Amino acid sequence: MLSSVFLSVIANISILCTASYIFVKLIPKKKIYTLDLKQKLWMIALACLASFLLMLFSVDLPEKVILDFRYVILILLVYYFGYPVAAPTAFLMAALRLLWGINPASTRTALMYLLLGLVLPYVSKKIAKQFNKYAVLLMLNAICVSAIMINLFFLYNDVLFSATVCFILLILSSSIVIVVTAFIEDLIKNRNLYLDEQKRAKIDYLTGLYNMRAFNKKWQTIPANDSIQTTAFMMLDIDHFKWINDTYGHANGNFILRQLATILTVGAPDSELVYRVGGEEFCLIVNNMSYVEQKKAAEKIRSSVANKEFLLENGEVIYITISIGLGASTQKKDMKNLFRLADHCLYIAKDQGRNRVVAATMDNLAEKNKTE
Ligand code: GH3
Ligand code: MG
Ligand code: MG
Repeated sequence: MLSSVFLSVIANISILCTASYIFVKLIPKKKIYTLDLKQKLWMIALACLASFLLMLFSVDLPEKVILDFRYVILILLVYYFGYPVAAPTAFLMAALRLLWGINPASTRTALMYLLLGLVLPYVSKKIAKQFNKYAVLLMLNAICVSAIMINLFFLYNDVLFSATVCFILLILSSSIVIVVTAFIEDLIKNRNLYLDEQKRAKIDYLTGLYNMRAFNKKWQTIPANDSIQTTAFMMLDIDHFKWINDTYGHANGNFILRQLATILTVGAPDSELVYRVGGEEFCLIVNNMSYVEQKKAAEKIRSSVANKEFLLENGEVIYITISIGLGASTQKKDMKNLFRLADHCLYIAKDQGRNRVVAATMDNLAEKNKTE
């Protein structure tokens, strides 16, 4: 008898852990997320399937009482996803119970699930701020077990027997809730660590801008992006930065790089498309602007840097200049050559005396090549 209870409990934990694993996999890979309708429907379908399996592996208790841990699924949905997922699942759980056979006991169970689907999300929301997640989940579990106790009392009309069974159930399901929640929390923790690492891999530690790796990933998506009509690379390089480092020290050089990163983020046409692609080299991606607008934007950035007072660590102020190479194109196919063009323009800007913008378009070059 005990070994069969033990085996059923193990089967229930396995089913719940597997379902939890899939639940976590279905969550969008973002730290803050909202589920769309499709994801909600998948969650509900999975919860119903898991409930069905849990009914198959129900625990046999004395006096032919059969109990299962479907409500643990409901508790998890209530805690992690709230009303929108928990309430429809509770409704389907009730319907599923009636499909199993309609009799007074199944009707009471179905009603109980409907009630739990309405009450638990409300209670969870109320107590979530005051207690930690394990306490909240255990309290929700205690509510479910109390509802089952009332249900059993109707069945047996024996308070002591119902209370004894429910005490055992409370111990078992509390343990299951703790094991499954620990499993889910571990999955979420690892997932968040992965997301943090993924973000860190794209960020330059010194300036907080996106790095070369992020830049390489980004420009490769441009040719297939239908919302982008025109694109340009703005290559920026600090003039005589080696001299600045040699004169004021490397730490001040870093301080200036950080201040420049802020100016670029504020002045860029799209602050999300500013990259540090080298030591003191930056690249901006400029989409959906005319050539004239692109040149104006580049000139605005150049002059805002030239007019800005850069602070040194000792409070002194210095001025720096940058050179900009702008490579523009209305074609989005030849991104590698567009990058080469921007780099070439930057080289010319340096050659012509620095602190200037030199611009060229791929389209003009193509025209030129055709006529030659
Ligand atoms: P130009 O006007 O021709 O660009 O001259 P430049 O001195 O800026 O060019 P060069 O490429 O010769 O020197 C770049 C300098 O940038 C060399 C290096 O000391 C400095 N540098 C590169 N990365 C960093 C960094 O992370 N921090 C600091 N402080 N300096 C850096
Ligand atoms: Mg350089
Ligand atoms: Mg330089």
